Formats: sequence, C-alpha cells, structure tokens
Amino acid sequence: MRDLRLSLSIPGRPLEFPLAERVFRPTHEPVRSVRTLCPRMTRPIVIHDPADLAPYAHGMFVPTMGALHDGHLSLIRQARTHGGPVIASVFVNPTQFAPGEDFDAYPRGLDRDLELAGSAGCDVVYAPNATTMYPEGPEAAVTAAAACALPEVAVRPRLEDADRPRFFGGVCLVVTRLLQHVRPTVAIFGEKDWQQLQVVTAMAAADPDLASIRIEPGPLVRDPDGLAMSSRNTRIPAELRDLALGVPRALQCAHAAQHPETAERLMRETLEAHDLEVDYAVVRDPATLRPVTDFARPTRALIAARLRWDDDSVRLIDNAPMTVWR
Ligand code: AMP
Repeated sequence: MRDLRLSLSIPGRPLEFPLAERVFRPTHEPVRSVRTLCPRMTRPIVIHDPADLAPYAHGMFVPTMGALHDGHLSLIRQARTHGGPVIASVFVNPTQFAPGEDFDAYPRGLDRDLELAGSAGCDVVYAPNATTMYPEGPEAAVTAAAACALPEVAVRPRLEDADRPRFFGGVCLVVTRLLQHVRPTVAIFGEKDWQQLQVVTAMAAADPDLASIRIEPGPLVRDPDGLAMSSRNTRIPAELRDLALGVPRALQCAHAAQHPETAERLMRETLEAHDLEVDYAVVRDPATLRPVTDFARPTRALIAARLRWDDDSVRLIDNAPMTVWR
C-alpha cells in the first residue's frame, strides 16, 4: 500500500496524516480524479508498470519527455478541465533520436517533474523505463520505429521529416505504445510541435485501436520575452538568449507580409541576422503542411533553426498562424 498523506489546513496549523490507498482506488469503479477527493495533495502517484495503470483508464493524458516547464503544465491544466483523472507520462524516448542528436544531453529530473506536475493538478505520472517501452531491446526497437506506417504529413512536407528522418517513426511508435498502456479518452499534444500534432492526429485516426481517443491540441506557451518554452532552452547560455529570440522575431516579421514568399524571405533574413542556422522557415497549409500560394485561407509559418556556440548547439522550433488577407 502506498504512503499517501491527506493534508488538512486549519488556520496557522497544517495537519497531515497517512491515508490508505484504497480510499483513492476503489476496486469496483474506475478512478475519477484523486484531486476531487483530496484537493491539496500535490505529489502525483508514480507508476512504472503499465499493469498498474488499469484503474486510470479513460482519463486525460499528457505525454512528455520530462524536464517540465509551463508549456507542459498548461497541457496538464487543460487536461484537468475535462474532469477525469489526469495522467502525464515522463519518458525520454530513445527511438526518436538519431545517433549524434541530443539524447544524452536531454535534461532529466523526475523529482522536480513530480513536484511541478502535481502543482498543475496531475494525478498520476507514468514513468516507464526503456525496457518496459521496448521489451524487444534497443536495436529491434529502432527497427520497429523505422517500420512504423506513417501518415503523409509525416513524410511529404520536408520539414522535421527531412531534418530528422528517424523522428516521426520513433514518435509514432512511442505514442502508440503509450496510448495502449494508458488507454485515455483524450490525449493532449502541444501546438509547439505543430507537425508532430498533425502526425499524431492522423496516425491515431488511421489506427482502429486508437481511433476512439480524441487528440486535442494545447496552445503554445511562450516566455515573457517571446521565446517558445522548451526543455532544451535550459541549455541556451544567458548571453546568447537574444540570438535565440530571432525565432519569435522572425515569426512576427512574417505576420505583416501579404504574400507567403515575402513572409519566407523576411523570416530567413531575420534568422540569419541573429546568426541562426536555418533548417526551414516556411509558410504552409496548417493541416497538410503542403506549400501555399497565398494568404486567402488560414496558413501557418513554421521555423526550425539552430543556435550554435563553442562545440554545442540547440535546435529551436516554433510556429504561428499567419494573417488571412482577402
Ligand atoms: P516534450 O516533452 O518536449 O516532448 O513535449 C511534450 C508535449 O508538450 C508535446 O505535446 C509538446 O508539444 C508540448 N509542449 C512542449 N513545449 C510546449 C510549449 N511551449 N507550449 C505548449 N506545449 C508544449
């Protein structure tokens, strides 16, 4: 039985005493929200074994790679508005990183993640290890990721798919397995990773086993200076932050343009003026991510650019809706 504690607050004197887990986890009915029973409990239950997730099926799910920030927490808060139990996963997924990418350097810290997730209203953190996610072993997992059937939006746009050829295979494999373990009603993905959101939406819709799960977008959250929040931002040296701000500035410049070609040129110029190495800076159809020829319908500007210093670098991605001109 887990050592859960119920905190009661009487003026000037907090009281705490242990609560039996069965209070939260009746065997005869699914868990709704732990927080409805115990609103002041801040540390979520941690689950490592997918078998222990069964009582939380049909909840609201927020998959993450940890190193949580306010962008992740906004998704957890959004999940809470739906009313069921909120489950976030923390798993740095090796199959979506190619050799030479930043898998080892990716920031990690489960303890801090638990505090933050709990403060945003998360009931359960699912933190599987690599063997749980990939019982076939690391090499076979890479092969399985490469063999994933991908929707068009994961292979045609020549955006993330071109720059990170292994990425969407790994994402689709891990998301499929996480959804199979958690069995949520709703899974929330951030608009920060716009192409990933389109890919996961298309992938889930095409899989009969996942089609009943609603994939819900969550708005992109920025720091006050405009930089899109990202776990990787912690690696940006403070003195180079202004260069990183070239990304949101480029999106702002594009917003004023009246033609996609002008918008793309303005974005590229702004990024280069900030010494950023441009992977892409484009305007596309928001759903298919195919090129567009005007701004008569909704479109999306998307950027990926690399900030380099010494022997290190961070890849920044961002996106924003463009103005519709009629
Ligand atoms: P990550 O941990 O980076 O894999 O992201 C986990 C989820 O959080 C994904 O659905 C991301 O799109 C989302 N996310 C990451 N950063 C932000 C942000 N700044 N605003 C909104 N959602 C975000």
